[in-house]
Amino acid sequence: MKKDTDHAFFGQPRGLATLAFTEFWERFSYYGMKAILLYYMYFAVSKGGLGFSRSTAMSVVAIYGSLVYMSSVIGGFVADRVLGGRRTVLAGGILIMFGHIFLALPFGAVALFASIVLIVLGTGLLKPNISEMVGGLYSQDDVRRDSGFSVLVMGINLGSFISPIVVGWLGQQVNFHLGFSLAAIGMAVGLIFYVVDGKKYLNPDDNVAPDPLHEDEVAPLLIKIVIGIIVVAAIFGVMALTGNFNLTNVINFITVVAILIPIVYFVMFLTSKKVKKVERSRVLAYIPLFLASVIFWAIEEQGSSVLAMFAETQTNLHSFGFTIPASWFQSLNPLFIILYTPFFAWLWMHLGKKQPSSPKKFTLGLVFAGLSFVVMMLPLSMHGENSLVNPLWLVLSWAIVEVGEMLISPVGLSVTTKLAPHAYKSQMMSMWFLSDAAAQALNAQLVKFYTPGNEMLYFGLLGGATIVLGALLIFITPRIEKLMAGVN
Ligand code: GLU
Ligand code: ASP
Repeated sequence: MKKDTDHAFFGQPRGLATLAFTEFWERFSYYGMKAILLYYMYFAVSKGGLGFSRSTAMSVVAIYGSLVYMSSVIGGFVADRVLGGRRTVLAGGILIMFGHIFLALPFGAVALFASIVLIVLGTGLLKPNISEMVGGLYSQDDVRRDSGFSVLVMGINLGSFISPIVVGWLGQQVNFHLGFSLAAIGMAVGLIFYVVDGKKYLNPDDNVAPDPLHEDEVAPLLIKIVIGIIVVAAIFGVMALTGNFNLTNVINFITVVAILIPIVYFVMFLTSKKVKKVERSRVLAYIPLFLASVIFWAIEEQGSSVLAMFAETQTNLHSFGFTIPASWFQSLNPLFIILYTPFFAWLWMHLGKKQPSSPKKFTLGLVFAGLSFVVMMLPLSMHGENSLVNPLWLVLSWAIVEVGEMLISPVGLSVTTKLAPHAYKSQMMSMWFLSDAAAQALNAQLVKFYTPGNEMLYFGLLGGATIVLGALLIFITPRIEKLMAGVN
């Protein structure tokens, strides 16, 4: 297949269908599992759960999400320097499938933690490289490029929309382990399709690493990996010797790492000799945008911890003459994305060059995110913190935060690539995922304050602070725009 001439999939290269459909099944398995994971962890053992405390369960969900995006750094490296994209995605998918199989077995917390390791590594290998391969279907100036990515995002959100409904129903109404098996089956279907279809329609170039490791680079790399393992083992060892090796402290440790990694990256970009003056200015402009994106994802990702908890414990799920499984609320996030996408596509097209700059869109995105939390104060103030409220309040909250996601997620992805210094293109792409990783690491700490009796204060403080930070961003926007040096 030659680039630019393949129009076999509604005018798009046929390989796009392969990649989007694989990603559909991967997200189906991920978000299906995630829709029931919180409940599986804190439900009592007699109800098929693990009996964790609510606060621990929310922290684990958050730190898990953080690790999943942190590992994208490894995925990029393995594809670029070792295996090439095709095989890296395949390896990732296999690990993910086994991760879900572990959860499908009745082996309690041990299986849970083993599964987390597999899914974290697997997703890190698979997800960034699917996006990368979609980009690789087009030449740089192919006008179909952006719409190709929209098709991928549609695949992501269709998978994330359907899975909480089916996996959630099976997991919550029948048995958690059956729910997790359905996630495993989803990933297996995706893998079979990827292998069979990929042979015909994916770019053979992706079979090899574009920048393979030289022989003399292997030993230093292995030494670095071993040192890394020793440092982490030593930290855990000291924790164990002092009687501090427990889940809370491991989570705290990961939080620190997730916040340190992007700092190290920024220092590297700003001090590197390979980065030109104008590129350095653009990296500086990216710092406030990165921080804004951390704050945005912190609110958005609490949909699967704090709002999921609210759905199960504080809403009246029997409102429509039937019991709604709490996991179904996880479908609202992707549902609103699917509904809003055509409108925003039209809006940006209609506004053309008159559309707001990225920092302005980010500001608005933060305001919407903040409002989605502030609005949750209303049912709590009207009905008190001990009564069950109408689930439509949650629908409203998601309807609001997803407007913010439309203003931040696609915009952030594209501005990240535009502000990237030439020498660090793929590392800069990782920064985008690292903003979500840092956000969820922060959440692993924040969610501990979401306790009975504290809910209104929690939504008010976090929502209010997000709006204030949005206002601060608009204040410094002229300076950011100047630093962006011609990029918008
Ligand atoms: N929710 C989206 C996904 O699962 C995007 C997350 C992000 O860009 O951080 O693919
Ligand atoms: N909004 C998330 C991502 O785009 C999906 C989800 O949280 O269910 O696609």
